[in-house]
Amino acid sequence: MRFIDEYRDPELVRKLLDAVHALAAKIGRPITLMEICGTHTHAIGRFGIRRLLPENIRLISGPGCPVCVTSISDVDRALYLAERPNVLFATFGDMLRVPGTGGRSLQQMRAAGADIRIVSSALDALSLAEANPAREILFLGIGFETTAPTVASTLQSARRKGLTNFSVFSVHKTVSPAIQALLDDPELNIDGFLCPGHVSVITGTDAYRSIPAAGRSAVITGFEPVDIIDGILMSLQQIREGRYEVAIQYARGVSQEGNRRARESMAEVFEPDDATWRGLGLIPESGLSIRREYASMNALNRFPLPGIPSVEFEGCRCGDILRGVISPPECRLFRKACTPVNPIGPCMVSSEGTCSAYLKYEA
Ligand code: SF4
Repeated sequence: MRFIDEYRDPELVRKLLDAVHALAAKIGRPITLMEICGTHTHAIGRFGIRRLLPENIRLISGPGCPVCVTSISDVDRALYLAERPNVLFATFGDMLRVPGTGGRSLQQMRAAGADIRIVSSALDALSLAEANPAREILFLGIGFETTAPTVASTLQSARRKGLTNFSVFSVHKTVSPAIQALLDDPELNIDGFLCPGHVSVITGTDAYRSIPAAGRSAVITGFEPVDIIDGILMSLQQIREGRYEVAIQYARGVSQEGNRRARESMAEVFEPDDATWRGLGLIPESGLSIRREYASMNALNRFPLPGIPSVEFEGCRCGDILRGVISPPECRLFRKACTPVNPIGPCMVSSEGTCSAYLKYEA
């Protein structure tokens, strides 16, 4: 199949791996690269890439899964909103099993009778609003720059249509401030980043400027084996030469400028706001709040929230995993109390989560 086979070509993979091994030997010191995209984490596991690399090249996973980085307080707030009278709560399927305080989840609430529907896009939620004018349709807006523009255009569309029963609880986040937090983290020593292909389609290279400025490599990388190994090779070239830049490996999907129209749509509806990330804590201006012009469609205005005390599940180390400080087998609950059937933290729940990837491919 075109565009897939050519990026899984065993001969090409072998050549790239030879080049990675040769360059890693020349560099001669341990190198740590972080992938900051859940899709990368799963592709690395699925294609067994970690095992093919030289001993001195270590890949660690970062905060690239939007479900995983959603703080427990935001999960608790979503649970509260989903139980408001007359609310039809629409969400992506991955959020359903994410536990809040005390292990309660949207899935449990749905089983107990709350009207919680899985949708595949914000537009699906908008259709629910049109079909159910007597109900309050509340959509949980989650994700990075990849999904935020589609939610923004849905809110614009809702306003054009004059819908008054549609609102969004935005827990959207942006990648660039999180990268800065990782660069500033004294516990981490990352030599370079494999930057997320999907997010970069929207942001272009601008979102990653801080990485070369801090003397680390940055390569926007695709998701097939050839892409990932090529991305690693390009990272090592930057490190070896001490010449840092934001390079694009995933040139078939990403341009330097990104998608300006999508960013404009996002900026019309959302404004940067402080946000709390699981594992990374409060990061200034890393979230997207709904602008005043769209206040009537901001779920937080329609359904004022009480103070909700949130408590993390004891022993779950998702926070450390999302910072790349530990790998899943280092969590004592991994594969024991915490499994895909009985997930304790979001890193095991989400299809993009690091713990689920490890269990599926590497344990
Ligand atoms: Fe949390 Fe489970 Fe991962 Fe441990 S294995 S960090 S409990 S999700």
